[in-house]
Amino acid sequence: MTYKPGRIFLSVPHMGGHEKNYAQKAIEDNWVSTVGPNLTGFEHDICQHTNARHAVAVTSCTAALHLALRLVGVQPGDEVLCSTFTFVAAASPILYLGAVPVFVESEEETWNMCPTTLREAIVSRQARGKHPAALVLAHQYGMPAKVQEVLAVAEEFGIPVVEDAAEALGSRYGGHQVGTMGLFGTFSFNGSKIITTSGGGALVTADPQLAEQALFLATQAKDPAPFFQHTQLGYSYRLSNVSAGIGRGQMEVLEKRIKQRREIYTFYKNQLQSIEGVFFLAEPKGAFSNRWLTTLLLPANTHPEEVRLALEQENIESRPLWKPLHLQPLFAPYPYYGNSLSEHLFKRGICLPSSSSLTEEELEKVVKHLKRLLEEV
Ligand SMILES: *Cc1c(COP(=O)(O)O)cnc(C)c1O
Repeated sequence: MTYKPGRIFLSVPHMGGHEKNYAQKAIEDNWVSTVGPNLTGFEHDICQHTNARHAVAVTSCTAALHLALRLVGVQPGDEVLCSTFTFVAAASPILYLGAVPVFVESEEETWNMCPTTLREAIVSRQARGKHPAALVLAHQYGMPAKVQEVLAVAEEFGIPVVEDAAEALGSRYGGHQVGTMGLFGTFSFNGSKIITTSGGGALVTADPQLAEQALFLATQAKDPAPFFQHTQLGYSYRLSNVSAGIGRGQMEVLEKRIKQRREIYTFYKNQLQSIEGVFFLAEPKGAFSNRWLTTLLLPANTHPEEVRLALEQENIESRPLWKPLHLQPLFAPYPYYGNSLSEHLFKRGICLPSSSSLTEEELEKVVKHLKRLLEEV
């Protein structure tokens, strides 16, 4: 792809400065494979920051979710509850395992899974003789879901919860770090997320045995033997020690990146909220969002796609909110529970450029054009 120079992107990597030192050291010391001090250092940093007990660094958040669902014992044909208002990768691992996703709608306060709808879904599945084997709870755009409420419902029915915190590293709910409240949590370090390893992810859990098994499965499930012997099906999911070095440098600036993204949100909100019909999602009491992406709903008299194309004319990238998974052709055959809130969000919402490296000038350019587009209708 070629881009016109000066393009304002949605979310780009933002190095802190020390990444190259860690990566260079890995190359100098010949730790360029999937073992080495950057991996243990990076996992240590993740635990330090999130208060997770154990972390396993892997090649992507999708891989981490796949491992988590394997480890809770999801079998072919099992049903797995999943947020519908999210990115496809929250649900793809359910299909990797030959299981059946059951999509659950969001609530209005956080745009994440609705605990009431979740209960209805479980009761309805049980009435059909199904008992969901797991639940994937995603936190959208950095906003924490109502984790405690969701966990209470899941616990009542004995369903293990995997938190997909791909977008929400550093977000908190009720004093707890997102990703550390479920049996497993997963993070993404792909290039668009709040920090990056150039591609990578992590699985966290409080259970040392589950962490050990995750590492075992992520490294081809090799039995202890002098030759290669395998009893279980494994994967090649381990992160490289070079990438983990980038991760160590990025962890040093995570707090700063969160602060910058939150400032970007506040700037947009202050500049645009007075336009009639514009809606910004506030943090509910007890929630702290990393504000990975600034999102807003546009007034009813605008066409979000026209706004997006007009911004594109100015070399500014924006994006509609997630197309709900239950409306994706890939997931058409699977059950869905809810009142279509996510469909409304998809139709009315837009994500604005939110890179922590955005300059004041760039932010002002985005706001100038948005004001023109929204006030002109
Ligand atoms: C980005 C993202 C993923 C996938 O992360 P990868 O590291 O690219 O596999 C999964 N779930 C959600 C909600 C995401 O936003």
